Amino acid sequence: MLIDSHCHLNYPGLVEDEEAVIARAHEAGVGAMISISTREREWDAVIAGAERHRNVFATVGIHPHEADQHPDIDTARLVAAAGHPKVVGIGETGLDYYYDKSDRERQRRSFRAHIAASRETQLPLIVHTRDAEDNTIEMLGEEMAEGAFPMVIHCFTGSTRLAEACLALGAYISISGIVTFRNAAALQETARLIPADRLLVETDSPFLAPVPMRGRTCEPGYVVHTARFLADLRGEDYQDLESITVNNTLKLFSKMSENCG
Ligand SMILES: [Zn+2]
Ligand SMILES: [Zn+2]
Repeated sequence: MLIDSHCHLNYPGLVEDEEAVIARAHEAGVGAMISISTREREWDAVIAGAERHRNVFATVGIHPHEADQHPDIDTARLVAAAGHPKVVGIGETGLDYYYDKSDRERQRRSFRAHIAASRETQLPLIVHTRDAEDNTIEMLGEEMAEGAFPMVIHCFTGSTRLAEACLALGAYISISGIVTFRNAAALQETARLIPADRLLVETDSPFLAPVPMRGRTCEPGYVVHTARFLADLRGEDYQDLESITVNNTLKLFSKMSENCG
């Protein structure tokens, strides 16, 4: 059994076919999945999806791309929405200076509002970071010193330096299908170094289908391919990698176990 720690079930490509996508995931051995919010207007839909399916969980957050569209996002609204029993995390949030789709100062302000919500609820912060390593390390370090919060760096594609800095702050690191790509040698090297007790796997579907599914719409069941690749890469037994990543996911997203019924 595996858990897809990060997917977007409400996005085009998956939403039209929700029942079949979830059924195929279960057939592939994916026992649960966390459906991640990126905009406030989709929170209700993402939570409704989690209400329809016992093994689907939800998060509330604003993607850094969407920071300009949510200039007044505040911690209180995140905390209130996170009170729903199936909301198990805060995010995704963070910094994306690669696409720069939102003003960087707005991205940072939104990131801080999410961090405060994570600290208050103790639900894990789901961090998206791209081409923003210095600011990410600096902000997470400053904020952690103000009061601890659990977190995961999702779809990790950064440097070994970023991985080590985040691990030192207590973060988990989630690896997506990108690690299976032919040009991902640097990421493969980093993925080898992540301690077993901090490793998560995800699809980030409908994006980033892993080898050998490239070119198709990614879906949660495909996390199996990423897990197989990682087990080979790290020289671990596949069953061990399954149980390690499931245990890590349930430890980090501890509200999942409380609300599995
Ligand atoms: Zn992301
Ligand atoms: Zn995502």
